[in-house]
Amino acid sequence: MDQIKITNLEVFSHHGVYKEENVLGQKFLVSAALYADLSEASGRDDLSKSVDYGKVCHFIKDEMEKYTFKLIETLTEHLARKILINFPVIEKIQLEVKKPWAPILLPLETVSVVMERKWHRVYLSIGSNLGDKENNLNTAIELLKADDLCRVASISSFILTAPVGGVEQDDFLNGALEIKTIRTPEELLKLIQEIENKLKRVRTINWGPRIIDLDILYYDQEVIKTETLTIPHPEIINREFVLKPMCEIAADLNHPIYGKNVYQLYQELLNKKI
Ligand code: ATP
Ligand code: MG
Ligand code: MG
Repeated sequence: MDQIKITNLEVFSHHGVYKEENVLGQKFLVSAALYADLSEASGRDDLSKSVDYGKVCHFIKDEMEKYTFKLIETLTEHLARKILINFPVIEKIQLEVKKPWAPILLPLETVSVVMERKWHRVYLSIGSNLGDKENNLNTAIELLKADDLCRVASISSFILTAPVGGVEQDDFLNGALEIKTIRTPEELLKLIQEIENKLKRVRTINWGPRIIDLDILYYDQEVIKTETLTIPHPEIINREFVLKPMCEIAADLNHPIYGKNVYQLYQELLNKKI
């Protein structure tokens, strides 16, 4: 992918663990590689299709002067995320914040933190079988859109499906979403649980009726298994109500464990049912 590079932007600000650093301030040097598709900008010779690096530099300076962080780790994370949010053309950023005057009582050239952050491509399943189901799904989508760290990229149509799992309950309205997010998988889980709570989801019986259920299906091509998260979602291959709407928005998407795309998994499930 194309890059715009900024090297050693000098900013005087007040980050540091020591009180003296917060009072007196010191020099920081910021370097960034901004990843974006620049072909349209270069083809049309049009700055509005590119990243205005002057604006990015001033933005970095303003953010560094507005806040005081103890750690350059926190500062770097803050800057990387804020730049991704405020400059939509940038898909990925590598950021280095150097501290040439780090007060360690030893001579050194610089100490620095380097981070890479990007918009991850994530697929969510969404379902409801209580109350005004369509309204519940749309409200959850609006809450996702309202989050600075997420962008909703595409929404499948909603399909009505009979419940699975043996509990006697009303039909579900299900759909799938593609989002872009800067959140880590754990941070995204936290957000979808907050949204479920805002919609007043009550957890009663397993696989029972619910106002809203949001699950993470895929997170880039990552495979994750922790106490709180399994990604890809382990039930994808068994669920028509997941694979059918996913076929509409991501038929070609590869499953990182099975090495098959959504369309293939859907066909296999349909064949199994015959
Ligand atoms: P299922 O996950 O089989 O669809 P469910 O959605 O009804 O069941 P929940 O009650 O919504 O289950 O979630 C139970 C727990 O599942 C959550 O607290 C969460 O920690 C965990 N979990 C594990 N992997 C995922 C994932 N990929 N997406 C969402 N939650 C997950
Ligand atoms: Mg679920
Ligand atoms: Mg769930």
